[in-house]
Order: sequence, then structure tokens, then C-alpha cells
Amino acid sequence: MDTSPPIDWHERARSLQPDGRALIDGQRLAAAAGDSFDKHSPIDGRRLTAIARGREADIDRAVAAARRAFDDGRWARQPPSARKKVLRRFAERVLAAADELALLETLDMGKPIRYSRTVDVPATANCIAWYAEAIDKVYDEIAPTGPQALALVTREPVGVVGAIVPWNYPMIMAAWKLGPALATGNSVVLKPSEKSPLTALRLAELALEAGLPPGVFNVVPGYGHEAGEALALHAGVDAIGFTGSTRIGRRMLEYAGRSNLKRVYNELGGKSAFIVFPDCSDLERAAATAAGSMFFNQGESCNAPSRLLVQAGLADEFVQRVTALAPRFQPGDPLDDATQMGALVDETQLRTVLGYIDSGHQEGARCLAGGQQARGDSGGYYVEPTVFDAVRNDMRIAREEIFGPVLSVIRFNDEAEAIRLANDTSYGLQASVWSGQLDRAHRVARALRAGTVHVNQYDEDDITVPFGGYKQSGNGRDKSLHALEKYTELKTTWLRIDAG
Ligand code: NAD
Repeated sequence: MDTSPPIDWHERARSLQPDGRALIDGQRLAAAAGDSFDKHSPIDGRRLTAIARGREADIDRAVAAARRAFDDGRWARQPPSARKKVLRRFAERVLAAADELALLETLDMGKPIRYSRTVDVPATANCIAWYAEAIDKVYDEIAPTGPQALALVTREPVGVVGAIVPWNYPMIMAAWKLGPALATGNSVVLKPSEKSPLTALRLAELALEAGLPPGVFNVVPGYGHEAGEALALHAGVDAIGFTGSTRIGRRMLEYAGRSNLKRVYNELGGKSAFIVFPDCSDLERAAATAAGSMFFNQGESCNAPSRLLVQAGLADEFVQRVTALAPRFQPGDPLDDATQMGALVDETQLRTVLGYIDSGHQEGARCLAGGQQARGDSGGYYVEPTVFDAVRNDMRIAREEIFGPVLSVIRFNDEAEAIRLANDTSYGLQASVWSGQLDRAHRVARALRAGTVHVNQYDEDDITVPFGGYKQSGNGRDKSLHALEKYTELKTTWLRIDAG
């Protein structure tokens, strides 16, 4: 049992002095042009630090460092067991710096400290450690060809990987790229979101301390249209691992087409359906899971179950259960250990979410809970947990990713209609089926066009399983051994064997 006194996070926040400079070739550097931008905390508007405003020159420098590191083999040609040791040490450093990283994450993007500390930091360390452990256990192949030859099918690192990540889970999203890319021997240039660059920069320092050679993992902060675009267009980058919106994912494919046809792996948005049938055997758990998964991380989760599909006969009762739970997620001070829901990432996101709430009203949906800005006097950006009933699947709040704490309830009449509505979306990230009938659960799970389907739960998650989407939710998969495929080339080597 932990008997240590609770941490005064406000006190710690006051003494924190985050370093917003880039980290290139093992060194902290200001932007080449000398520019920076101020980073404010969404919790209270407080200025946190100045962030280097990386542009093309900084990306050039980082890609050149990554290329040198790759070509001279300082990392790529180390035996897998040696890379494992370094990456395991990196994961240990992450855990040792857990309080600091959690605080940086919360101050930077607004999520409650309890979750940065108990979810984001351990998941980041676990991801790095898992790929470290995996890499000296995966074997290459010998193809079943004839006796006159030997065909080796081997995997090699692609080279320089550009990783571009969003602000909702800044550390975890970075780790999902770093783990498999570094374990397989690549060099990485990471462009964190301009809204949440602090933990990425600190992670790169911890990796250096753990023994990762300089130049192997570089971080260039900056805006998407500047640093991000320069990285995605760069001819010296072999693959892009992108997580972000579908709108920018589309651009990633264009950038590749306009430059060197680099491999592009997109992990994009979602509008996931949570389907409840009247034969669900535990409505209380279903309601708690729907509310908990929707409002977790302020609703700023790509896989948030933002469309709640309920069979008409059950809908009034079920919606009432979910609505009754909403006040538990009323936003609070993110630095208070008891807070369940924190601040949205910035004022732009606040305006976007409030705009969607307006559109829900205008299109005739019925707001049963929330719908307002909260904690207005804090100087930060908070929205109440919001539930809209009587939503039609053609309304904007049902079709577009809101990325805030807004749940849309849609009623259906039978199984076929539930499947049709669930699949009637441009996205295909996740879905969930709640039914006590085994046949129905399997039937519906099979019919859903989504990368992950949950049955009678939603929050199960593990590094061992792939994560990613069908349709416009992306391509490729993060997590699991399948992610190694994204960061490796497949090589066939034929050797002739003379009959003798
Ligand atoms: P975003 O697309 O606006 O930005 C993502 C990253 O791309 C940021 O680093 C940004 O600076 C950069 N970027 C922006 N414009 C760019 C450009 N023109 N060229 C190059 N880079 C550019 O997304 P966001 O608002 O940061 O994140 C939210 C989105 O991420 C949501 O759509 C969410 O669903 C998605 N997401 C998906 C997953 C997943 O695994 N599928 C996980 C988390 C978040």
C-alpha cells in the first residue's frame, strides 16, 4: 500500500521549468531562425514556456542527423539484444520520471493528473519495454522453395522514420511509433503537436540518458504547416507514422505523392458506435462503460464511443441511466487527484466543441445533460459532460468527430438497422456490442466495419493487440507485433545451392 503523502501538484507546477528547445543529434537547440512561440496551459491560461518554432531548416538538420546515425549503423547494426537493453533502460527512466512527465502532460494538454500518472506514463513505459523485449524474439523466414536454392525472407529497418503525433495522448502516441521504429533499428524524427510538445522533448532526453546514441531519436517541435509539412515532404524520410485527424492524414498521402512516395501509415479519427440490445445482461455496467469511455480524456479520444445506439424499447431507461452518470464527470481542477475530467486542449477546441453543441440544438437533438462551458473563471477551457438524445445519424453531431465530451444517442428498431447505422459513417475505428445472446454478439461483431470490436465491454486495452481503423480511420496498425511491419522492409535473398 502506498503510504506516501499526497503530492501537491500546484506546488510542483510552480517550480517546473520546461525546456521547449528542439533536441537534434543529442543536443538541445533553438530553432535555426531563432523563432519560438509561447505555450500556455489549458488548465488556467498560464504561460508555461517558449517552444522552438521548428521549420524546414530544423527538419533538414534533424533528418540529416537521423540519416547519419542510420547509415553509420550506430543503432541499426547493434544486435537486437543490445537494442533491447537500451530500450529497457529507456522505459525504466520513463517510470523513474513518472511524476515529472505526468505533470508536464497535464499542464500541457489539460487531462487530469490522476490519469497522466496512472495511465499515460505507465502505458508509455510499457510500450517501449514491450517492443524492447519483443525484438530479440522475432525470427526471419526461410521460404519453402526447392532444393536448388535457399530463399531468405528478412526484415530490415526502413531507415529514417518521421513520426507526427497529436495532442490527446502525446506520450502514448509517440511511444506507439517509437517502440516499434526504434526496436527495429530505425532513426526517428518526431514532430509533436504544437499544443503538447513538452513530454516528447523530455522523452528524447531520457532516451539519451538511457544510452540511445545521439541522432537516433530527434524531436523538432513546431506547427503542423511548417515543421510537420517539411518532415512529411522530406526526401530523406523513408516512412511517416502519422496519428491525427483524417483531414491531415489525407495531406500526408499527398505529401508522399509530391515527394519520394515514402510509406505513409495513418491512424486517424473515429465516430465509434456503442450498440445496446435489450438482451444485454448488465445494463448498469453498460451505462457506466458508455459514460466512462465517452467522457474519459474529456472526450478527446479517437476511439470515444460517441454514438450510443440503443434499441427503441430500451432507450428511455438506458439513456436515463447514462444521463444520471454524467455529473460525475463534471470538469474539475486537473491538478486535483480526485478530478475525473479536465480541460480541453485550447480555446480553439473549446469553440469547436461549443459549436457542435449549438449545431445539435439547431438540428433538433434534445440536450439531456451538460451543454455549457464550465469553470469559466479558471482562465482555462472546460465543457460539461453533454448528452444529446433524439439524434439522427445524418446530423453533424452524429457524422463528424467532435473530439469533446458530447455523446449522441441514436435509436434503432432491430438488429439490421443497428448494423446499418453503426456502419453508416466514413470512419471505422472501433465499435461495441452489448448483448447476452452469443449468436447475436458474434453476428453483429462480424458485420461491423471497424478495426476493433468489443463485446460487452469497451475499455479493454493491451499492447499485444493491434490498434487502428478501417475506412477513413486510417491504414496500418499501431501496437502488437503487427506494428513492426510498418517500420521494416521485407527483403528476399536467393542463394544458389549446387547439386554437388
Ligand atoms: P491534427 O491532424 O490537427 O494534428 C496532428 C499532427 O499533425 C500534429 O502534430 C500537427 O501539428 C500535425 N499537422 C497539422 N497540420 C499539418 C500539416 N499541414 N502537415 C503536416 N503536419 C501537420 O490532429 P490533432 O487535432 O492534433 O489530433 C486529433 C486527431 O487525432 C483526432 O482526429 C483523433 O481522432 C486523432 N487520433 C487518432 C488516433 C488513432 O490511433 N487512430 C489516436 C489519437 C488521435
